[in-house]
Amino acid sequence: MIDLRSDTITRPTQKMREAMFQAEVGDDVYGEDPTINKLEMLAAKMLGKEAALFVTSGTQGNQIAVLTHCRQGDEIILDEDSHIVFYEGGAISAFAGVQPRTIKTEGGFMDPLKLKEAIRANDIHFPDTSLICLENTHNRGGGVAIPPSHMAELYHVAKEHNIPIHLDGARLFNSAVALGEPLTAFTQYTTTVQVCLSKGLGAPVGSILAGSKEFIDKARKWRKRLGGGLRQAGVLGAAGIIALNEMVERLAEDHQNAKKLATGLNKHPLLSVVNHVDTNIVLIDISETGMHSSQFIDKLKSQDILAVPFGPTTVRFTTHYDLNMEQIEQAIDRILSLKF
Ligand SMILES: *Cc1c(COP(=O)(O)O)cnc(C)c1O
Repeated sequence: MIDLRSDTITRPTQKMREAMFQAEVGDDVYGEDPTINKLEMLAAKMLGKEAALFVTSGTQGNQIAVLTHCRQGDEIILDEDSHIVFYEGGAISAFAGVQPRTIKTEGGFMDPLKLKEAIRANDIHFPDTSLICLENTHNRGGGVAIPPSHMAELYHVAKEHNIPIHLDGARLFNSAVALGEPLTAFTQYTTTVQVCLSKGLGAPVGSILAGSKEFIDKARKWRKRLGGGLRQAGVLGAAGIIALNEMVERLAEDHQNAKKLATGLNKHPLLSVVNHVDTNIVLIDISETGMHSSQFIDKLKSQDILAVPFGPTTVRFTTHYDLNMEQIEQAIDRILSLKF
């Protein structure tokens, strides 16, 4: 089976498993897990923030960020196609009780003017705009790597109005590698950031939320309230440390494989790649086949290839370290031979 559904399906490397086995642990709710403390310090340093918090998932990291930044009845501005709006089960409303003010973006690029217009004036009728959320890479945009220069423009608008920016950087490492920029080139334009250790970097569990020390102290309490205070979490943190230290640079291979896949699939007369393929995501339009994406996915499955539907006639493929170039070539050959 060639599994191109997501970069979350990767299994921990041998080195990660050994580090997990050997991990020094303690009770992290008491702040006594040396491995988690090391991971949080390393992550904070890499992200250019004062402090960091290990959380169970990207979704939990984003939700803790919203809970910590906002109060019930506040409004938060975000892309209508953002993961937080699209894929987190309405959690911002269920937990934080905030109202989303969504903006349509150009494949993840938010127009600074539209952002400015969406920020509420001080008026008794209006909710308070208390947060702006950005996403990089942009998932539904097709893994778009948003350059720091664009984030700077949005940051200046936010700063003018004294509104914090939270970056959903589940795949920020992919942007950094694709654009050849350090992580801090992006995070300097954010107040807080969430990054996933369990996507392209291959750790089995966990994300990092980073920000000021004061913010992370409050976030730690929200994590506890949500039941995310883990005990001997260093068993997981050990894999996270390897993810940060050793798995970032190799993302370039996933990007090359995605480009290879895109070039190959474009040769099929009825398939067309619709995204720019900056990183490890390839989106194809299948409307010419006359199929719905779910039927197309079934047809791929019969050829031992897995992908995910991304719309009625859009299908997403994601490359990751558990797939090598030969497997990508096999996938291309099998898909090119499909008849519709
Ligand atoms: C995957 C993803 C998340 C959520 O991460 P989980 O660990 O699956 O909860 C958040 N934002 C983006 C952009 C993602 O791609």
